Amino acid sequence: MTLAHKKARPIKPGGIYPAKDLCSQCGLCDTTYIHYVKDACAFLNQQFDHLETQSHGRSRDLDNPEELYFGVHQDMMAAQKKEPIAGAQWTGIVSTLAIEMLNKGLVEGVICVQNTEEDRFGPMPVIARTPEEVLAARVNKPTLSPNLSVLDLVEQSGMKRLLAIGVGCQIQALRAVQDKIGLEKLYVLGMPCVDNVHRDGLKKFLETTSRSPDTVVHYEFMQDFNVHFRHEDGSEEKVPFFGLKTNQLKDVFAPSCLSCFDYTNALADIVVGYMGAPFGWQWIVVRNETGAEMLELIQDQIKTQPVESQGDRKPAVQQSIPAYEKGVTLPMWAAKLMGVVIEKIGPKGLEYGRFSIDSHFTRNYLHVKRKYPKKLEAHVPEFAKRIVAQYKLPDQ
Ligand code: FAD
Ligand code: SF4
Repeated sequence: MTLAHKKARPIKPGGIYPAKDLCSQCGLCDTTYIHYVKDACAFLNQQFDHLETQSHGRSRDLDNPEELYFGVHQDMMAAQKKEPIAGAQWTGIVSTLAIEMLNKGLVEGVICVQNTEEDRFGPMPVIARTPEEVLAARVNKPTLSPNLSVLDLVEQSGMKRLLAIGVGCQIQALRAVQDKIGLEKLYVLGMPCVDNVHRDGLKKFLETTSRSPDTVVHYEFMQDFNVHFRHEDGSEEKVPFFGLKTNQLKDVFAPSCLSCFDYTNALADIVVGYMGAPFGWQWIVVRNETGAEMLELIQDQIKTQPVESQGDRKPAVQQSIPAYEKGVTLPMWAAKLMGVVIEKIGPKGLEYGRFSIDSHFTRNYLHVKRKYPKKLEAHVPEFAKRIVAQYKLPDQ
């Protein structure tokens, strides 16, 4: 086994995490790069303008409504793999991109997350060197994951060309230290991320929401306003968003995620999620030339369609603010009915993406304002302030 195949150290018991309860366990502080934490940590130093300019050559155009929401980009589309990868989170576009980059020799290794032997959702960051190792990392580990904990191994291996797959907080810290790792080229494949949880929070979420928490192998908050669970026996379970036990789930989300404004992974070269795409499709955002080069590698393996936008999210977002504050939970019959109605007439495509961004940014803005009032001004980026300003918030 080469050095680069080695797994990262687990989160250090008693390790030092300067962001304290805001720490998202991105992994940086499990490495010698902890020296840069004050500058690099997403929760200690909000620096989107600077890092967008470093990554894409410019910061987002706040007067362009699409960039305000989705960040710097040159292209956006809905996509599906023609032949989906079995067991992937969606159709496996992320794994396919990583595999092609290895096969074509663009990179020597890929930072990705496999699971531990004892826990299918227990994150185990690795530097994958082969397609098999990338495939073993497919499907979300829906919990905080210390992806950057392998950074020391990257440097020790002498690797010069690397692909990093990760969510926003991991990518913000990585961008801040990328010049210190000794790489010639870093490619960044990001995923949108919101409402992540510590491992015990995930247990509580599954126990509160699913009919069979121990057999869940996959779940996703889908564009049809339902959480879709897949179980070990292949059966599917749908729970409407509006039926979630909000009062019990309020404390489940990690404090880092309640303070995050990087839902759409602003600093990645290319982002693969689902939030701006029609139901069943993935959503690709190409941010810069590097991202375009990456997408080119898999063009023959995917079908695409233009992104669309339908509906008006604003009334639903405005109503959701006091409902969340009060922890309102509807009886299941009403939640199902509401889900059906909203799916028919509610926001779709990019407007669904905006609905989700608005709901989370308003909630997170209020959270930071109440819990960390001294951080509010510097921590909330200008684009999020503009988005939040469209709504009437309590306590104002
Ligand atoms: P696959 O081919 O199955 O590959 C999944 C990749 O995810 C693997 O390479 C693995 O290394 C990586 N990964 C798994 N768990 C983690 C983790 N905890 N941290 C970092 N990397 C991980 N998209 C949205 O549009 N809206 C959302 O709200 C949203 N929330 C997400 C929350 C989390 C925690 C994660 C990990 C992803 C989220 N996504 C979200 C992205 C979406 O769920 C899919 O991961 C994405 O569309 C890729 O699907 P795929 O089939 O191409 O991935
Ligand atoms: Fe360190 Fe990352 Fe935690 Fe910030 S979020 S304190 S950089 S491990």
